[in-house]
Amino acid sequence: MKPLIAGNWKMHGDLSWIDKPALFNRLFPAKDRTEIDVLICPPSLYIAPLVKRCQKASIFLGAQNCHAEIKGAHTGEISSEMLADIGANYVILGHSERRAAGESDKEVKAKAEAALRAKITPIICVGETLKQRESGQAKAIVEAQTNASLPATRDDMSDIVIAYEPVWAIGTGKTAMTEDIDDMHRHISQLTEGRYRLLYGGSVKPANAKDILAIKDVNGALIGGASLNMEDFVAIAKSA
Ligand code: PEP
Repeated sequence: MKPLIAGNWKMHGDLSWIDKPALFNRLFPAKDRTEIDVLICPPSLYIAPLVKRCQKASIFLGAQNCHAEIKGAHTGEISSEMLADIGANYVILGHSERRAAGESDKEVKAKAEAALRAKITPIICVGETLKQRESGQAKAIVEAQTNASLPATRDDMSDIVIAYEPVWAIGTGKTAMTEDIDDMHRHISQLTEGRYRLLYGGSVKPANAKDILAIKDVNGALIGGASLNMEDFVAIAKSA
């Protein structure tokens, strides 16, 4: 499977960041990375000015959330059809920061179905808390989240990405042990019959990317903090 190196900019950046894809491409030209896919997920309002720039740099573009409905009275929301219309290719769904704010598996599933409906690839995030890991529940939690969040409308042709992101490793500088990542990714891969790209996320940095990306069922990474700096993001992409 072609590795996917995905950057989640969260609520960071300003209009000057639209020049970052060109910088990435200068540091790591498209002709040298035909074996990997690179994705940037900026705050939604920066997607439009990034479309042409990302196309020029051979970088995919994604959002960090979408609404499940096509349209309607949902103030402040953006539908997956609108994201597709503007030029987004992916959407991150069920990130732990959104789950912590109350987003449920049911909502994530509905949004993932909306993404497939709009021909956008959903990146479905799953992951256990530290308490759940310490009490030996990590696999059961991730299995339940995966089963409950995957779109019911999927078929063998559906392009879906699952990101395993232990909640305690996100933005903390703590990374899961390679054995634990290996174990969890094998579990998710078996659960999903090896159909989908599985990303690892949680404090992936240039220093640990090579070891993480070498794990068998790891097909890329979802990167928060280190994707804000193009030198670091490039270094991670070069490790894939
Ligand atoms: C994330 O936000 O999905 C993430 C993995 O963040 P970080 O790389 O900063 O831990």
